[in-house]
Amino acid sequence: QRLSPGASLQKRLYKGKMSSVYKGRCLQSGLPVALKVYFKDRVPANVIHMVMREVSIHLQATEQRNVLKLYGVFQNDDVIVLVLELAARGSLSGICKSINGGRLSEAQVRQTVVEPLLDALSYLHGKGVCHRDIKAGCNGPRPENLLITADWGLRLADFGVSINLTEERAVTRAGTGDYMAPEVERCPLKAHPEENKEDTSLAYTTAAEPSLQGRFSGLCRVAPCRAVAQHGRGPKTGVTVLLQDVWSVGVLVYELLVGFPPILLGKGGLKFPASVSPGARDFIISALAHLPEERPTVRQLRCHPWMLAAGAAAD
Ligand code: ADP
Ligand code: MG
Ligand code: MG
Repeated sequence: QRLSPGASLQKRLYKGKMSSVYKGRCLQSGLPVALKVYFKDRVPANVIHMVMREVSIHLQATEQRNVLKLYGVFQNDDVIVLVLELAARGSLSGICKSINGGRLSEAQVRQTVVEPLLDALSYLHGKGVCHRDIKAGCNGPRPENLLITADWGLRLADFGVSINLTEERAVTRAGTGDYMAPEVERCPLKAHPEENKEDTSLAYTTAAEPSLQGRFSGLCRVAPCRAVAQHGRGPKTGVTVLLQDVWSVGVLVYELLVGFPPILLGKGGLKFPASVSPGARDFIISALAHLPEERPTVRQLRCHPWMLAAGAAAD
């Protein structure tokens, strides 16, 4: 083992291809944290810049209350460690499964998920950041990026494929299966090879917190940094790219209300069970407009009549 876990790494919560997530505790404050650990020997050389971009964008977003807090980033020769707020209740999909066979009431979905998610996305989109991987994964074993804290707050996590459109252009396909907007499916899988030649000198060293030093030898703090711009040649730039997040929100809301993802057969082919209210249907249909230009922005969605019903009594 390259890590010397010591007492702080309490439990592994997730094991991915390049990274694992552990529950831990900050020795200084005593607060529980999550540690997302990237193992450098599992991260291909041309992908390491994406980890740096994840860090950079997450730091730009972390002030927003519904974004998972990123407290600090450290590295040594073997690992890059993201110290994150712990979402003690785990993923949204886990919660869904335990309630009503995977379905939540409209009021629950609106208040617990859609309101905080749209607030987080308004903040991100205002900065030119597109998350590009919003998903709950209620119907599969895939990891998901919406997490729930001990006091039932929603947190948007995983900026691994996010992009800041003021810094670079979106040229490659990013996102996951059902949640991917139609215009994204048409993007190439890989960027031009030259675009992957990235400068990874972004990370430089200052002292690590003593509480972490004991557990990962030789860790150095990674300074807040901006991603190195990728000079894409793709046609898509600006606000239309942001609208792929709106598509994912449409898929997510359908899935949470209906229990499975929408099946989209041509135009107007979306079917709803009788239980879904007209307001919710209109919300979902507008977010799932085939052409991105026809979708509402996140701010417009936030003002949709179905959202404004949030202050009212139960459905
Ligand atoms: P990946 O980039 O591999 O998808 P994520 O950052 O999405 O990694 O994390 C993967 C999984 O680890 C999440 O779906 C969640 O189950 C768990 N996880 C990640 N961060 C936290 C956290 N802060 N608190 C609790 N669980 C977490
Ligand atoms: Mg993820
Ligand atoms: Mg990721």
